[in-house]
Amino acid sequence: MGYDAATGVVATSLYEQIPEYKFDYEENAEKQSTHNPFLKKVEKKKSKSRTGSQFLIFSDSRQGAAKFACFLSDSYKEFLRRRGIWNIVTEEENNYTNGIGISDFVTVLDNYYSGLNLFRKSNSENIETSLTENRRNAWVAVLNELYNCNRDTSLVSLGKISFEYLGNSDDIIQVVVKNYNLSKQDAKNFLNFLAFETVRSAAIVTDKISDINQSDREYLFFTPYQKTITKYKDNSIFNSQCFMPTPKTLKSGEKKYHRSTKLLLTSKILKLDHDKAVEFLGYYWDYMVSDNNKYKLITNDGKGYVIPANYFKVNLGKNAILWKCNKCQKVTQFNIGNNCIQIGCTGNLERLNSKEFCSDNYYALLYESKKVSPLFVKEHTAQLAKKDALDYQQQFIRKEINALSCSTTFEMGIDVGDLETVFLRNIPPLASNYAQRVGRAGRSIDAAAFALTFARLSSHDFTFFDSPREMINGIITPPNFTLDNEKILKRHIYAVALSLYLKIYPDLYSANNAKLFINEKGYLGFISWLKSEPIELSDLLRNSISITNKQLVDKYINSYEWLEGFIGDQGTFSKIIKEYEQNVEYLKREYEKAMRARDEKTASLFNRKLERYQKNDLIDFLVRGNILPKYGFPIDSVELTQNIAAQSFKSLNLSRDLSVAIAEYAPSAEVVADGSLYKSRYIRKPIVNKSEMNDFETAYFAECPDCQNINYSKMPIGSDGTPCAICGKKLKNRDFKKSIEPRAGFIAEEEIKEVPLSSQERKYKTEAIYVGDNTAYPISKYEYEFENIKLKVESTANDSLVVKSTDFFYVCPKCGYSIASDEVSKLSEYEDYKSGAYRIEKNTVGHKNPFGEGKCINTTLIRYSLHHEFKTDVAKISFGCDTSNYSTMLSVMYALLNSFAHELNIERRDIKACLSYKISGGRKEHKIIIYDAVPGGAGHSRRLVTEDGEVLKAVIKRAINILDTCECSPSCYRCLRNYENQKIHEILDRENALTFLEQLG
Ligand SMILES: [Zn+2]
Ligand SMILES: [Zn+2]
Ligand SMILES: [Zn+2]
Ligand SMILES: [Zn+2]
Repeated sequence: MGYDAATGVVATSLYEQIPEYKFDYEENAEKQSTHNPFLKKVEKKKSKSRTGSQFLIFSDSRQGAAKFACFLSDSYKEFLRRRGIWNIVTEEENNYTNGIGISDFVTVLDNYYSGLNLFRKSNSENIETSLTENRRNAWVAVLNELYNCNRDTSLVSLGKISFEYLGNSDDIIQVVVKNYNLSKQDAKNFLNFLAFETVRSAAIVTDKISDINQSDREYLFFTPYQKTITKYKDNSIFNSQCFMPTPKTLKSGEKKYHRSTKLLLTSKILKLDHDKAVEFLGYYWDYMVSDNNKYKLITNDGKGYVIPANYFKVNLGKNAILWKCNKCQKVTQFNIGNNCIQIGCTGNLERLNSKEFCSDNYYALLYESKKVSPLFVKEHTAQLAKKDALDYQQQFIRKEINALSCSTTFEMGIDVGDLETVFLRNIPPLASNYAQRVGRAGRSIDAAAFALTFARLSSHDFTFFDSPREMINGIITPPNFTLDNEKILKRHIYAVALSLYLKIYPDLYSANNAKLFINEKGYLGFISWLKSEPIELSDLLRNSISITNKQLVDKYINSYEWLEGFIGDQGTFSKIIKEYEQNVEYLKREYEKAMRARDEKTASLFNRKLERYQKNDLIDFLVRGNILPKYGFPIDSVELTQNIAAQSFKSLNLSRDLSVAIAEYAPSAEVVADGSLYKSRYIRKPIVNKSEMNDFETAYFAECPDCQNINYSKMPIGSDGTPCAICGKKLKNRDFKKSIEPRAGFIAEEEIKEVPLSSQERKYKTEAIYVGDNTAYPISKYEYEFENIKLKVESTANDSLVVKSTDFFYVCPKCGYSIASDEVSKLSEYEDYKSGAYRIEKNTVGHKNPFGEGKCINTTLIRYSLHHEFKTDVAKISFGCDTSNYSTMLSVMYALLNSFAHELNIERRDIKACLSYKISGGRKEHKIIIYDAVPGGAGHSRRLVTEDGEVLKAVIKRAINILDTCECSPSCYRCLRNYENQKIHEILDRENALTFLEQLG
């Protein structure tokens, strides 16, 4: 059972248990429209009362909350439809002792649903608009039981109803009885089984086309289109399935039929060989479509057939005779000679006692209840526009909505009155989150709070499942912010200095354009101005920055000591300028070299890159270089925007940090928001102005064939190649593969879909790579000796990591249209596609551009990966012992991460780690790189590095303890595994990690 389904069952059970309250609502009354204010009628509102229950649901992620809102809403509807049938059957079983035609049954059910107005859109909706909804749902309910009669949760399997084809007349049954020596009952059941092939093929039609819609079909039959049944296999008939067994020729030349239950059963029951059995099936098909049959299948083209659902009748309750296998316990309506219907089961059938069978069946007990009222559940996350979120919140307070499926948006400050129940779909990261979520309930004086928490199979949830007190009574450290944080202070000082300079010298200021200030070296004036230690700057700093730390005041306010770290040789600003100018030089040099060699292709590559590189935004440049504060200019957050050509537009806020976006918003990834499904399709190109778009921001990756380290370069590689950054082996320029940093975000497909009840998550994997940065500044570096083993720990800030997708995407360089490398059917439209191809272009269909202007003029797609480079705080740990075993070091890494988070009370998601290594003396030497997952760094990692090494020691001790108290092999969710590392669960080895760490403490 999936996570949604599991928590769905819990949420449903919980909802059923919540006591109902009464509430009044106002039904829309007639309003007479008139422009004469004196004639304006007083609006009359009819007040009615309903009952309902309410609760809040929390998920950790927005997508989790968004999907669960859809899932719970849909699965509860399915459940209500069943409960409706159950109640009808109980009420009506004495009135229809000979069964009832499906259409009539649908009408009875529709009346029942309509009486309760069960499928209204909201609690404030008036009756009329939901009439068709109730009938639609009645049809869906009955077709679902008919089509899925074999499923264990169906009402047929619970012995509550059975279905029968009306076309098997007594005459026809008699023929089978006589010719094949069967009992009348067996013959009847056998023919009914064969007639059900139309149902199994989903070739069923309702009374009117409008009875069900495309998404109902999708839900019922997994295709939005009407399916048909043909006699023989016919690929020219769209969406069809055939009745007759399909022949195949064996290598020996012998003709055989594909095995199917239908063929095996026919041959077994009628005691015929396969050829004769097939002949019999042919006769039966001919009967089913012949004029002699009052209930014959219908057809438009004489090839594809459908059957009206009304040609089946429903037997209700005690009139339904069902059978149970004494061996496999399967319940069936087809009893032919007491044989179990399951292929391979040799059990015998026994009459099912439905009452007894249902008495301890979870589903039966749920369906039985008389509580029949809708469950309205809406998403409440940061993905919604503020207005919509507020709207849902108000509806919840007015009790028009029963449940809100929230991410963290609801944690703070929203009072929802007399709410009593909260459901947490996982154990929150921290005790403070728990307190906030649970604290939503029981805020009114006369309400008692109830909070139910579902513990997932994760090490975090396990830990607190074992010791819930730590979560429930946990210590809550109030969020604090110290103004004396040097890291933050510096960026503010720099920002103040720069803005003052540009104010004094407005000639150098040209909005966000970096041309004057950077490209044309306007910054030189800035540097000499700073060196003159201007009084007006000191005054401004003194007046605008309030810090108390004496040391910091002396360094930043009372003196110009800080200039060294800024514009000195190793200063932050000097370094990024130097890097920029070196890159420009490099691009120019390579361009000229290629020109001299008459290699126009390479020359134009370098020329384009140079142009792109020099088209710099000033703020972007300075923020990326960590000169200006990042939170003021969020450059690392991108959006998945809706397609201009889409039919409906909702204001949504689908934004994500780039390192997450390259997985969650990557082309072909699906995102659920406010009840709809959006599929990403385009990588958005950076826009310069109305008519001009920039090239994608690209970089290059190569795996070193010798040391397997990933080399990363922002610049294209020249014809001479470049040495591997780790082992020095010469890498050729063709070893490097292209990657896009999608800084302008993504665009969704035109089509917006409904959210399917069970959705396969399409999400791409990423890997973090420590690439190191020569502009990073070291904070501290210590060496310790634990149990005679040397440990080196170094912490740096402003260091570089790259997150890279492990998959490829085929991207249109013109418009950004992209196909993921696993979208097989889309790629197969390209004649020249081969797995791993660098470019594909032979496609007759083409693709639409994202500007709503029809087809793109380009058909060539180029292979790229996606990446994001970011700066953060890093702690590097190297060990003086054998670190050559990759899987051991990975296991050690996860053990240390877990215990580090626990020891210092850091949210586990806020720190991450990766391994880096070099070959030394023919052996791999691994380093563990722990870094802050928060862009820009939050200062977590550096807390590991203290002069006395006590923190690291404690972290190792705790890691040993976690590993030692586990008994699993090789590892489990309690010790090393978690959701993120599931790809490598098998190689995570608890005992190896333990042995390694025990050397150190
Ligand atoms: Zn069986
Ligand atoms: Zn190498
Ligand atoms: Zn295109
Ligand atoms: Zn374990």
